[in-house]
Amino acid sequence: MTHRLPLSPELSCPLDGATLLFEPKEVSVKIVTVDIGGTRTRVARWERGALHDRRSFATGNLDELIATVRVVAPEGFDALGISFAGALDMRTGKILSAPNAKGWQELNLPDVLSHRMGCPVFLANDANCAALGELTAGCRAEDFVYVTWSTGIGGGLVSDGRVLWGNSGMAGEIGHTVIWPDGPPCACGKRGCLEAVAAGAGIARVAQEQLGQQLTAEEVISRAVRGDTSAQGIVADACRAMGQGLAVLSELLEPELLVLGGGITQSWAYLGPQVEHTLNDLARKPPPIRLTSLGDDIGLYGAAALPEHWPQRWKRAP
Ligand SMILES: [Zn+2]
Repeated sequence: MTHRLPLSPELSCPLDGATLLFEPKEVSVKIVTVDIGGTRTRVARWERGALHDRRSFATGNLDELIATVRVVAPEGFDALGISFAGALDMRTGKILSAPNAKGWQELNLPDVLSHRMGCPVFLANDANCAALGELTAGCRAEDFVYVTWSTGIGGGLVSDGRVLWGNSGMAGEIGHTVIWPDGPPCACGKRGCLEAVAAGAGIARVAQEQLGQQLTAEEVISRAVRGDTSAQGIVADACRAMGQGLAVLSELLEPELLVLGGGITQSWAYLGPQVEHTLNDLARKPPPIRLTSLGDDIGLYGAAALPEHWPQRWKRAP
């Protein structure tokens, strides 16, 4: 498939005063796509509508990232798209919080990489990239919400076939909406965020408090599945909170469907009915829930689509 990015030569990555190096081409466009996760970073080449030559390594080493980018695209590439697990400002490219990559806080990653690699670089939050991946390579619906249910909880909003990025690229943070104002403390500093109650780390913390044992969320869920009533209570609370979060999204955006991904959803057969029960209870028009079909590649697909879907308002004049 020949792909042409609808980019104009004045397109810029979020760089101050950067030379604009991207030229639109009739020929197939090559993009290196990067998914910087909490523990692992994945890199692949996106070409002719597919991912090629996937690589992965531990997150945090910038030189290793650059070396891997060169390995997956030895003949060069047109642009670099990056999905990043952390808070950032898409307008400037600055990383605001990088809990898993030491020294990256305040780093302007697109700036650094663009200068070292000589190409436009596009950086976005991981949940929003995942929603973009779903839009371009997954469910391809026009109106949906993507929610990742994992160690943390993140979300990305798609309306009318476009990602809603928000003011600085951090829209869709359903994990940090407060659902229980007097609930447990969240890593963000507030209390009772959906993430604090229902994410993997939250489930593990409650298990530690209530069962006096250090268990992973997966272990708590598997105990619940086997009939342990204490574990069932903890998991039921998490499912109720997730259903509550999804109901808020349903009322706010009237999505055609809700797409879920992330490690916790591997136990969907057990969790799903409980989440849906609350969603059906609280939302007037509950949309169907689907699990993503893209697995671990969802962020790579999304980052590959960033150059094409970069918000118009953040393109700079030459
Ligand atoms: Zn929070």
